[in-house]
Amino acid sequence: MIRIKRDNLNTLARQHYKNVESFSPKLTERLEERSRKPGVLQSFYKQLFKDVKLKNSESLLISTPEKLEEKIKEYTNTFGFDFSKNIHKTLRRELQRVFDYSGYAKEYGYWLAKELKVNVCPYCNRQYTFTVSRGRNKIVRPEFDHFYNKKTYPYLSLSFYNLIPSCSICNRLKGFQNFNIKKNIHPYLSGFNPIAKFKTKLNGIEAIWGDSDKIELLLNTGGNPLVKKNAKTFKLKELYNGYGTIRKNDVSGHRDYVIEIIQKRLIYNSSYIDELFETYQGIFFKTREDAVRLVLSNYVTEDGLEKRVLSKLTKDISEEWGLL
Ligand SMILES: [Zn+2]
Repeated sequence: MIRIKRDNLNTLARQHYKNVESFSPKLTERLEERSRKPGVLQSFYKQLFKDVKLKNSESLLISTPEKLEEKIKEYTNTFGFDFSKNIHKTLRRELQRVFDYSGYAKEYGYWLAKELKVNVCPYCNRQYTFTVSRGRNKIVRPEFDHFYNKKTYPYLSLSFYNLIPSCSICNRLKGFQNFNIKKNIHPYLSGFNPIAKFKTKLNGIEAIWGDSDKIELLLNTGGNPLVKKNAKTFKLKELYNGYGTIRKNDVSGHRDYVIEIIQKRLIYNSSYIDELFETYQGIFFKTREDAVRLVLSNYVTEDGLEKRVLSKLTKDISEEWGLL
């Protein structure tokens, strides 16, 4: 899990607001119209209209995750709807139509993905999520996971900080699970680093010779319950090791990759990396980590984690085995 850290999030959020409002009729107009019609949701629509219309970061569309959580509490206490329940299915569908996430995604999904430049899935760090498009030719973009799921919180389906670019596997694994910032890691707020670390468990010397059945990848959660929950939801242990609970050694997952890191550690000892760094310092490398990056073909510094898949795994295993 890698944090999405950007300096321009507020600017993007404001543009996002304008994009949402560019639909005709505007979201605020749709909400205002509904708030005039008598019905079960009338007072809720009135509140939503007021909250969406608020200026700048106060608006429900661009509120921070902390504020969104406050809003959820406020709405639940005041109106008592539980849209995840079947009895509120019709109301949920109505809200989904008003907020129209599909319409937004069709029109602005590529814009948002391109601006955020999240090239690797923040949840698993295993899949690339490049956005590739040229003019009208849209080729591929990440999916947007709704941190607060669309079913329970349809009124947050267009909120900027609720849209997490992610790979389709993670989006599917999370599904309609009820996430909140007290129990789950929100990628706009934090990541695994530096609390949780991957580590290896060797079950025989054959692992070093290349037998991936003799090595296991573990995640040290640092006792953090949020990390634990996150790892469970996104099946990190299973996916990194490549096995399910029934047949352990069907696929090697990323264990073969980790064996190569260990082998590189044994081949290129510390003095070799020091020498490499000293020879090419100022040409290819600014820091010693740059030399390690070249040897491992992956980023091993905090700010590089989001640039390549398996970077967190690479960083942790390199630390564990003394490459860093
Ligand atoms: Zn993913």
